[in-house]
Amino acid sequence: MTLFRDIKGTVQPFWITLRTMLRKPVTVQYPEEQRPPAERARARMILTRDPDGGERCVACHLCSAACPVDCISMQAAEAPDGRRYAAWFRINFARCIFCGLCAEACPTLAIQMSPEFAFCKDDPLDLVYEKQDLLVDHGGKNRDYNFYRHAGIGVVNPRGGNDDEYGPVDVKSNLP
Ligand code: SF4
Ligand code: SF4
Repeated sequence: MTLFRDIKGTVQPFWITLRTMLRKPVTVQYPEEQRPPAERARARMILTRDPDGGERCVACHLCSAACPVDCISMQAAEAPDGRRYAAWFRINFARCIFCGLCAEACPTLAIQMSPEFAFCKDDPLDLVYEKQDLLVDHGGKNRDYNFYRHAGIGVVNPRGGNDDEYGPVDVKSNLP
């Protein structure tokens, strides 16, 4: 039995090597040859739109707060109908570590990671992406979600001026 085991231990590695040599190679000659990344691959961030075409981002700064390397910045603004949006939105991809925390933190599913991974640049300043570079015309991975259908748009009427709303309390009336 010992002899058989020794022979097997000697021959088996050669057999495995020979079998592997005869297999079809799996090496991809990148960049000449490219495989499409998986649909849910997590690379460059995008800003998506809701099904009505509106910008999903409400400039809440949560992604910016969650980002461990502080590479997201923006300026909030408000439309006449009370809908918030980012007047400008900037991501410095030279600092981004593609951790995905910004996408996890986003309450409106606005910021998402796209499969685009090949966007190297010679100049680091070219990796600073502005809102027009980030905003896409689709909903990304959650095309049907519309944050404003759940949350509603901000109150623009004076306090007490909306349906089913009580007027503001007169704080003076609480005084002794
Ligand atoms: S993926 Fe991570 S590092 Fe990059 S912007 Fe989002 S939170 Fe910041
Ligand atoms: S992308 Fe999302 S988390 Fe970031 S500011 Fe816009 S709504 Fe908030």
